[in-house]
Formats: sequence, C-alpha cells, structure tokens
Amino acid sequence: MAASNRLVTLNNGVQMPILGFGVFQVPDDQTERVVADALAAGYRAIDTAASYGNEEAVGRAIARSGIPRDELFVTTKLWIQHTGEPTARREFDQSLRRLGLDYLDLYLIHQPLGDYYSSWHAMEKLQAEGLIRAIGVSNFHRDRLVDLVTHNDITSAVNQVETHPFFQRAADQRVMREHGVQIESWGPFAEGRNNLFTNPVLTRIGDAHGRSVAQVVLRWLIQRDVVVIPKSVRPDRMAQNLAVFDFDLTDDEMTSIAALDTGASMFFDHRDPEMVACLGSRRVD
Ligand code: NDP
Repeated sequence: MAASNRLVTLNNGVQMPILGFGVFQVPDDQTERVVADALAAGYRAIDTAASYGNEEAVGRAIARSGIPRDELFVTTKLWIQHTGEPTARREFDQSLRRLGLDYLDLYLIHQPLGDYYSSWHAMEKLQAEGLIRAIGVSNFHRDRLVDLVTHNDITSAVNQVETHPFFQRAADQRVMREHGVQIESWGPFAEGRNNLFTNPVLTRIGDAHGRSVAQVVLRWLIQRDVVVIPKSVRPDRMAQNLAVFDFDLTDDEMTSIAALDTGASMFFDHRDPEMVACLGSRRVD
C-alpha cells in the first residue's frame, strides 16, 4: 500500500494520513518548490500554520499539482494574536484564502495561550458549517487538554506536540487516548538536536535493518500510533522519510529506543512564564 494511504481515524470518523509533511522554517521563497517536490514524492498531508508565513506558497503548490482535493489532507493553525471570536473566524477565512482552498481538513489552535476557548467555539461552528473537517490543538499539556475537552461540545481530534526519542510523551499519549485525542508529533527528529542523527542506539538499529536513523525514528513513532510530519527541503530525504512502511522494529528495539527518553523538551516548556510572554507578544502579519 502507498505510504500516503496509511491512515488513522480521528474521533469524528475523519481519516488522516499517519505520515505527512511539515513546512515550518521552509523559507517562503522555497516553499512552493518544496511542497511541489513533496507532493510529487507521494506525500498527501501538508502541515503549515499562519505563523509560518508560507500558506500562499503551499496553496500555489497544491493548485499546480493537479491532485484532486479529496486526496489531500491540509492542516493549518491559528496564531495566539488571533484567538477569540470573531477574530478566529476572520483569520480562518484569511488562511483559507491564502491556501486557495474552500475547506480545510484540520485546523489547530497553535498554542494554549490567549483566549483560545472563544477560538474553540468559533472553530466548532466552522466545523458544523462544513468548512473544516476536524478541529484540534497543538502544544497543549494534559491538564489544558482535559480542561478544554471537559468544557466543550466537540473533543479535540488531534493534539500536535513535540514528540521524538528524547521527549517521548508516553504518559501524555495515554491521557490523549483516554479522551479520544490523536497524538501528532512535531519535530520528530528534534530538528537534529542532541545529535539525534548520529545517536548510537538509533544508528545500531538502523544498521540492523539497512535503514537511516531518520527512518528508524519515523518507524518507531508510527509503531506507537503517532502521526508524523517530518520536514525536509531535499527530495532525496523526502523519499527516504516516506519509505518506512516495509520494515518493523522488534519489541527489543522499541524498548531500546524507549530508554532514550529524557522526559524533557529539547526546545522550551510552554508553561515557562518567560516563554508564555514571549510567544504572546509575537505578531504575525
Ligand atoms: P524535524 O524534526 O522534522 O526536523 C527537520 C530537520 O531534519 C531539518 O533540518 C531537515 O533538514 C532534517 N532532516 C529531515 N529529514 C532528514 C533525513 N532523512 N536525514 C537527515 N536529516 C533530515 O523538525 P520540524 O520542526 O520541521 O518538525 C516537523 C514539522 O512539525 C514542522 O515542519 C511543522 O509542520 C511542525 N511543527 C509544529 C510546531 C508546533 O508548535 N505545532 C513546532 C515545530 C514544528 P533538511 O530540510 O535540510 O533536509
């Protein structure tokens, strides 16, 4: 089966590819080429965000590809500055316009900051109107996620959180599962931090299968039922990162990787007051 056909079923019945493509930090002037290459390689899910500043370029690549809309799964995210209702609705319209689409597959609250309860209400309405197929959140710690789920009609379909061998989120995943929320990894390679690509445990496992460290990491996440959206600007790596459905990691290998967990972010903690202030002051055009 083609990689793009491997699907997870979200809590409202919508199906989402377990392996997609992320475009964070892809410069705007390269994004159209990069997304065109990713679609040509076989990716069908694209993850962007208003704050990445590249939705228009993503939209141009999608339009150029000629791929039927219903074969694609497009995600974008609402930035903190635009939380609230009706701001969230206005900003959703802007994202849709920039992407050149008439509906979105998944819309996420980018950060658990600002007036995100009001945003959620706006998103619930947009879903009811058929403009978004599924709504979810990103960077929500378990307490914030459970609070949002408890006090609203629609349960978040997805929580996109930093998840990789050094920050594995097993306990978070358990809570998400209890509430029917699909975990999605951002930064599956920790953007290469902590020498991920030369880690001896991952390298040894890769050698045993004739695979790269990147492939081992993606396979390990997929075997844990985690949705992944690796980013690469290089077509050879795009293809490599898609080729992870024809081998299995053994239980022993899964256990060896589990031992790499540090339990801490390789980036920052969304509960750190300085970061909360810093993110909250970031403005997106
Ligand atoms: P990743 O963990 O996907 O790492 C990307 C880095 O790995 C790039 O430097 C890339 O280099 C390199 N790389 C990719 N494939 C390979 C390979 N096979 N071998 C060696 N190196 C490789 O980082 P991201 O932060 O981009 O995370 C993925 C996606 O998650 C983002 O693009 C975005 O869509 C989403 N995200 C969401 C966040 C949120 O707050 N919700 C935060 C951060 C990311 P090169 O491009 O040169 O190949």
